[in-house]
Amino acid sequence: MNTKMNLRCVRCLYPISHPLGLVLDESGVCSGCLIHEEKDRLDWLERWRKLELLVAPYRVESGKTYDCVVPVTGAHDSYYIVDTVKNRLGLNPLLVTYNKYFNTPLGIRNLANLRIQFNCDILIQNINPQAVKRVTRTTLRQMGSIYWPCIAGQTVFPVQTAVRYKIPLIIWGAHQGIEQVGMYSHEHEVEMTRRYRKDHDLMGYEADDLLSIFDSLGEDDIWQYRYPDDADLNAVGVRGIYLGNYVRWDPKAQHEQMIQRYDYKGASFPRTFDTYDHVDCYNFMDIHDHIKYLKCGYTKITDHACREIRFGRLNRKQAQQLVKQYESQPLIHLQKFCEWLGVDERGLEFILNQHRNHKLWTETYPGKWQRKPETDDLVQVAAMPESGFLGFESHTQLQMDRDDAYITVGKGYP
Ligand SMILES: [Zn+2]
Repeated sequence: MNTKMNLRCVRCLYPISHPLGLVLDESGVCSGCLIHEEKDRLDWLERWRKLELLVAPYRVESGKTYDCVVPVTGAHDSYYIVDTVKNRLGLNPLLVTYNKYFNTPLGIRNLANLRIQFNCDILIQNINPQAVKRVTRTTLRQMGSIYWPCIAGQTVFPVQTAVRYKIPLIIWGAHQGIEQVGMYSHEHEVEMTRRYRKDHDLMGYEADDLLSIFDSLGEDDIWQYRYPDDADLNAVGVRGIYLGNYVRWDPKAQHEQMIQRYDYKGASFPRTFDTYDHVDCYNFMDIHDHIKYLKCGYTKITDHACREIRFGRLNRKQAQQLVKQYESQPLIHLQKFCEWLGVDERGLEFILNQHRNHKLWTETYPGKWQRKPETDDLVQVAAMPESGFLGFESHTQLQMDRDDAYITVGKGYP
């Protein structure tokens, strides 16, 4: 058997080197595609009833506090999650959001519109800029990540809030490990864990792991990112559930509903066709996406394309063409990021090159890198429906159109 045959899933485009871990079956179809089939096989009405039973004990009849914590941003699936929690489950959520500093005006607008449309209370966590920059510099050096503080903040602030306000239930959207690589079945009903957060969201580094005698980072910089300890979590009985285990999760369809009903807005990006995801951040689909390419050999467009293949809205060939067209588009917000962090572009490039995956890249000349040729292009392409590519709506171009710094917090909308 030709081992080259098994480097990518034959149905979607994911490589077996996917950082969350991917398993191919004997016909070359990946675990993500196989678990996706559950979306058309499970009885979602029955699963919804399970969710209703699960959340019922958390309803606070006195109305004097919140029923649950719901993490939100100015993008992703936030509108759909809040709509489901508040309007369909009838719960009173406390929304929480972590200020990741790279906010677009559209993201600020979407977040303000969210709390107004759904009439919810919201807490915003603003960590001081010096600490955020110091942590970003450290994670950039140590693990080649500019996004560690954003992910750490987004995943820890809801848990800290649950402990502080004594609200035991946190409701998240979809579980990325299920959506992308089929790490679990929907029927396993996995919940939030400290371990998954550390291993996958945070690339193996919790806040305390960043402290080192070789680094200037101190306790003052990292304590806000520290996960509550087990005794505190157990005292409140904190648990985090994923709606994707109980609702047939389809981000494109969900966003289209939210645009129609609650005036969510999308934006076009140079590096993907998905105009709904990540519109709240200048860097996620820019420098962060480029780093993903250096480390994993693919970018966010592949995630979007794989998802659309699985829903039958894109065939594999169309997806490959889109990936080719988008993944190497030049960055447009790099300079702004360098100014914010206080590094020059060459210095940043030097650090990033140290984190390139040598299985994927060759240094042809000092400082010049070339992607190694793909070895698995000849795999048999599974037959997919010729569905034609369905357009995503865009309401604006996500350009840095103002010569100012990132908007650090919104004052409201309009
Ligand atoms: Zn697959």
